[in-house]
Amino acid sequence: MKQMLTIDGSIGEGGGQALRTSLALSLVTGTPFRIENIRARRARPGLMRQHLTAVNAAATIGRATVHGAEIGSRTIEFAPQGLVCGEHRFSVGTAGSATLVLQTILPALLRGAAPSTIVVEGGTHNPLAPPFEFFARVYLPILRRMGANVTATLERHGFYPSGGGRVRLEVVPCAGLRAIEVVERGGAVGRRATAVLAALPFDIARRELDTVCAQLGWDAAECQPLAVKEPGGPGNVVEVELEFEHVTELFAAFGERGVRAEVVAQRACAEAAEYLAANVPVGRHLADQLPLPFALAGGGAFVSLSASPHLETQCDILRRFMRCEVRRRQESAAAWRFDVIVEA
Ligand code: ATP
Repeated sequence: MKQMLTIDGSIGEGGGQALRTSLALSLVTGTPFRIENIRARRARPGLMRQHLTAVNAAATIGRATVHGAEIGSRTIEFAPQGLVCGEHRFSVGTAGSATLVLQTILPALLRGAAPSTIVVEGGTHNPLAPPFEFFARVYLPILRRMGANVTATLERHGFYPSGGGRVRLEVVPCAGLRAIEVVERGGAVGRRATAVLAALPFDIARRELDTVCAQLGWDAAECQPLAVKEPGGPGNVVEVELEFEHVTELFAAFGERGVRAEVVAQRACAEAAEYLAANVPVGRHLADQLPLPFALAGGGAFVSLSASPHLETQCDILRRFMRCEVRRRQESAAAWRFDVIVEA
């Protein structure tokens, strides 16, 4: 039995990521851990439904013994004892993010002995988490470039706060991930903006897409509204997707009560414009999601904007579980290169 690590969950931005990354790495390395101060810097610290579902999903996949897995808990101990592939269904029970639960267990499933089908019910389009389209069209294609055989299907939209969404993930294990570099975008291949509406007036989408056209100078033909069939509850997201030869990026902004449709669209456009101006391939959110799979592949490199607190957290947790270091070098005013280095 490996020695138990103790992780301080208040590091970096002090949110749920230290917990999820620890769970993911514990499953793939077999290292048990105790995490204290879970989500210490959040208004309501401790485990919320999404985090608890990630713990329970990881415990099921890893046949783990767990102490402290309950809502509000600020300390848990987690000791995995194997890997159970196959069919699993997990339900967050609120609008907590389904994609974040999937990101927690996917690295382990890629190393399993058999294929897996995972269904997670919960939020599929949450502010502060990867929306389904980011997961499916930005994150997973990078894993596929690394050799992973994984596909995701959105079976039902689930917006915050109603939830009720469903995502299905099919994973076929692979011998090992290949190290890659994402240091250039390559040529532009396509771009589109989508305004997704669930149980809200169509005019919101029209105003949002008009704003995208005005802000980014796009053509109306590149902007599509999408009305969710049989919505579980109201919701709205504007997604600006930029496809390049070597990478796709997607910037999302969520409709909120009291925030004008134009302002929502401007938020997505501002993020897209910052990314385009920086001439980097990897945006800020993707940047904190790459170090983990890159470390499991034995290394890799990417170029992005300056490091966010979430990226710092990932680097800290990786260093604790693996002999892994993420070195950085500023390449221009806005561009940074991150090299993920794993000691043999
Ligand atoms: P809390 O911090 O309240 O515990 P949490 O556990 O839901 O919340 P974080 O720890 O903040 O979440 O992690 C959120 C993850 O979702 C990060 O990897 C972040 O990059 C990603 N993310 C957030 N917003 C987006 C977005 N618009 N597109 C893609 N990824 C996103």
